[in-house]
Amino acid sequence: MAERVYFFDTTLRDGEQSPGCSMYLEEKLKMARQLERLNVDVIEAGFPIASEGDFEAVQAVSVQVRKPTIAALARANRLDIERAWEAVKQARKPRIHTFIATSDIHLQYKLRKTRAEVLAQTIEAVKTARNLCEEVEFSAEDATRSDIDYLAEVLTAAIEQGATIINIPDTVGYAVPMEFGPFVRDVIAKVPNRDKAIFSCHCHNDLGLAVANSLAGLLNGCRQVECTINGIGERAGNASLEEIAMAIRTRKNVLPFNSEINTEEISRSSKLLTNLTGSFVQPNKAIVGRNAFAHEAGIHQDGILKNSLTYEIMTPQSVGLSSTTLVMGKHSGRHALRNKFEELGYELSSEELERAYFFFTKLADQKKEVYEEDLVAIIQDGMKIVPDVYRLKFVLSSGGSQAISSAAVKIEKGTDSCVESAVGDGPIHACYKAIDKVTGMPGRLLDYTVNSVTRGKDALGEVFVHVEFENKNYTGKAASVDIIDASARAYINAVNKAYTEKQRSEAKKADKVAES
Ligand SMILES: [Zn+2]
Repeated sequence: MAERVYFFDTTLRDGEQSPGCSMYLEEKLKMARQLERLNVDVIEAGFPIASEGDFEAVQAVSVQVRKPTIAALARANRLDIERAWEAVKQARKPRIHTFIATSDIHLQYKLRKTRAEVLAQTIEAVKTARNLCEEVEFSAEDATRSDIDYLAEVLTAAIEQGATIINIPDTVGYAVPMEFGPFVRDVIAKVPNRDKAIFSCHCHNDLGLAVANSLAGLLNGCRQVECTINGIGERAGNASLEEIAMAIRTRKNVLPFNSEINTEEISRSSKLLTNLTGSFVQPNKAIVGRNAFAHEAGIHQDGILKNSLTYEIMTPQSVGLSSTTLVMGKHSGRHALRNKFEELGYELSSEELERAYFFFTKLADQKKEVYEEDLVAIIQDGMKIVPDVYRLKFVLSSGGSQAISSAAVKIEKGTDSCVESAVGDGPIHACYKAIDKVTGMPGRLLDYTVNSVTRGKDALGEVFVHVEFENKNYTGKAASVDIIDASARAYINAVNKAYTEKQRSEAKKADKVAES
């Protein structure tokens, strides 16, 4: 009998903590809604004590995303746990996830505590969490380097206090599958009250083995697996959700598990995350890489054409990929555009449709053929994630091989408009300097990427930027046939996020002053 495996997605917590993957509140909400469509069982939405922003994101996800369980992370102390509960309590199915390290190396150098003290702290923390929340998960950080008998003692105590999900993480990505599997099996066997809990694994990818270790965990008694979209996460990342889900779907004979994951949403989830963070996956990444389903070698292609089973172990459709198809012409109307977007999984508000239509007609004028990928780029460009405080009216730039480039921009804010120009090393630099002059908010460009959305010389260019304003990082994104235009709008997108966030925090401060 195939047993049910629960997918615990930590893209918004472990994933979001990694460099270059930070997300703005509305972006986290978009991602959470997509994870709901993907049908994960649990969304770990953040670490509420870490920052005001994390707290707000967990709270917003709890209120707005109703199907999955929403988990909030807390260290094993009262303050963290109470803060986590405050953030998650409005969820339909809330969970507090509390953790403490159990390996001697962490006890000695990080916590400076004895084993007895950590055991006592575990008991206290789970009790506190359980008094607030029906469902409590306990993690023994650095479990794989912990003494197995001591680990079992801590886990037994956590279950006694009412934790019903017990996580065994390979925090440092040190384990290998032939060791991790038996380790999980032996720990579980040493926990006498094991039938009162679901065991879970959380594997990091430092040796490239996170998915393999997770599968070994499942085969040895775990029924929850913690993972992220595209495998994002600290250092080399976490186990990637899409790989585990597709391994289970494709290899039922050796992995006798069921999951509720809607695998047809995998591709869209992966692309949305990339679009929100600007953090790309390598082309040969399993399941979601650009080349994962491309059979370009002649001999393979010949086989595929004769019978797809010759080289294809999964169909592109099973992860929600459709082939690049010509979809729309210059004369397609709003109605056809709305229908096409619905087919692609995007329900548009009438405002979003208007915006998408505007970009679409502009694009159809510039480009012979409009593909599904172009439409996705258009809609993600047009997503109303932040108010358009600053709007680009035009950008003019000169570049080339001479030493100095120049740019002029016209930008609107409300009913005002402003024209500025600047020179710089290259047209993008000049353009960004001109924008800074208009906004008075100088940004530091940390990363800049440009990609073509489809093939061909007239393909849409998508620009992603990571920009720092006042020591905080923001991403910006835009798509256009003209990369200077896309570059300017991507930068302004980041400016608008920084501006909006600043306004919000100032408004909140003013509220607090008024209250006191
Ligand atoms: Zn982790």
